[in-house]
Amino acid sequence: MRKRAERTGGLLIHNRASKWLSAFIRKETIPHALLFTGIEGVGKRTSAMTFAMACNCPSVVSCQSSVVSGPLTTDNGQLTTDNGPCGDCRSCRKIRSGSHPDISLVEPSGTFIRIAQIRELCHTLSMKPYEARMRVVIIANAQAMNPEAGNALLKVLEEPPERTVLILTAIQTSDLLPTIVSRCQHIRFDPIPRERLETLLLEKKQIRPDDAEVIATLANGSYSKAFSISRTNWINRRKWLIRELESLVIEKQGHGTARMLAFAERLSKNKDILPDLLEVMKTWLRDIVVCKYDPEKIINRDLGDSIQHASRKITVASLLSKIKSVDSARKNLRANANLRLTMEVLVCQLSF
Ligand SMILES: [Zn+2]
Repeated sequence: MRKRAERTGGLLIHNRASKWLSAFIRKETIPHALLFTGIEGVGKRTSAMTFAMACNCPSVVSCQSSVVSGPLTTDNGQLTTDNGPCGDCRSCRKIRSGSHPDISLVEPSGTFIRIAQIRELCHTLSMKPYEARMRVVIIANAQAMNPEAGNALLKVLEEPPERTVLILTAIQTSDLLPTIVSRCQHIRFDPIPRERLETLLLEKKQIRPDDAEVIATLANGSYSKAFSISRTNWINRRKWLIRELESLVIEKQGHGTARMLAFAERLSKNKDILPDLLEVMKTWLRDIVVCKYDPEKIINRDLGDSIQHASRKITVASLLSKIKSVDSARKNLRANANLRLTMEVLVCQLSF
């Protein structure tokens, strides 16, 4: 039985949300439209896929009113073997491999979900499902729909096709047209607790417990963020970055112009990881402020001593202005400002 859960992916799905979803199947009252909201990386899309599997898996469908009485997943987010889809039948396998003709995923192409994508979807929905008991359409990052696309989708929601469920995912309801939100059954996915992320990292990744604790904290409730951090050379990069910051911001030693420029250059070298590096800078600066008032509340707990030392050497006003500098660098990067120049300005501001 355990194997069965592993084959379905050992997926992380929010337990409270999965109880709702399981109840829909049990009571045979599947809404025409669902809206999953929550921060990135809490399992919204994965849950949508699992729900699509559960709606069509013969082992769930055949025992609907008797066996399916609990949630689709256990407390640690694994699919339960009793109530979840089998993951093994023809339907489950097709859905998982993305080859089921009646399970579709619409997601932004570039920045937006465009009207053409929704028109194509409307065309598909005008026909009967090929083979599914319940056709499922997942519209991921639904906030990326431009107004025309949103209005076209609204028409589908107003006259929902039979045997079809639309699942929209978004960070928050306020990102969507209120008319869309009001036509969906809303299910909120909470951030994943730090302890659970830590356990998952230890179970699935070969990393040291100390590192797992830091990663779980910095991931801020996001499963995908925790795992992407643990995949990269992130731990060493963070060590390097904090050493540089300590010497630049706290010790103010050995940071002549040449070294500052070299630091800026190294920061600007890899555009993809720069947002993560800026996040590290910000939490480190934030921790030094917090440490002045409540050392227990710092995020970088493994750096407690050095953060305490730093907090005695720098004023709150100076820290807040540095945090502002990191924020404005982030904003400038999003606006496609010159990378190298932005980093040079930032490093300079951090050194004052
Ligand atoms: Zn199945």
